[in-house]
Amino acid sequence: MRKLIAGNWKMNGRLAEGTALAGDLAARAGGDGLASCDLLVCPPAQLLHPVKATLQGSAVALGGQDCHAKEAGAHTGDVSAAMLADIGCSHVIVGHSERRQDHAESDEAVRAKAAAAAGAGLVPIVCVGETDQQRSAGEALAVIERQVRGSLPDVTGTVVVAYEPVWAIGTGNTAQPSDVAEVHAHIRGLLGNLLGDAAGAGTRILYGGSVKPGNAAELMAVENVDGALVGGASLVADDFWAIAQACG
Ligand code: PEP
Repeated sequence: MRKLIAGNWKMNGRLAEGTALAGDLAARAGGDGLASCDLLVCPPAQLLHPVKATLQGSAVALGGQDCHAKEAGAHTGDVSAAMLADIGCSHVIVGHSERRQDHAESDEAVRAKAAAAAGAGLVPIVCVGETDQQRSAGEALAVIERQVRGSLPDVTGTVVVAYEPVWAIGTGNTAQPSDVAEVHAHIRGLLGNLLGDAAGAGTRILYGGSVKPGNAAELMAVENVDGALVGGASLVADDFWAIAQACG
């Protein structure tokens, strides 16, 4: 499967930095992009519009970092999936562990957001992943299964799942390739059950958690790893580009 390398800029970047980073990536990607992977950047909401303008004509796609489950209304500070689609996004991250933790988002809330995203024509990138304590307790697969079952929208259309062990995000600790292989195989099986064999086999499963240029090739070579969700390293054009090139 063609891989997807997605950059989650999180709450980083002012106008000048964000457009410079997007411009750098757009220049490298050109209109054709890379043969081995699709490229996506997910800037903070205030940069979506200028970054979209900067990416115009390039093969780098635009995504949001979160969306509200409702289309419009009295939800101060929130952004709807329809708004993201309107501005030119193709994807939106939902259920990132930082949102699950900082905003107490449940699987049910994530599922509603993912359904709203799909309804607006966006591809939701649904994040799941266990904490350090859950892994130590031998609960990783059970936690991930519960999150996948609870967070995936009950709609037809393309969905991406991102496996992001919480303990690996922003820490420099990367999951062992054998653990990544075990979790991704488990998610692949679940997707087959939930979506049917063909759709399950065709659904991208990204790995995220301290992916860097130095470990990207090894991680991207793991079976059932269909790309990466990249945080810190996506803020450095050289690093993000090197990770994309490590796809093959
Ligand atoms: C993330 O935020 O999704 C992430 C994987 O971050 P990092 O690459 O910095 O660990």
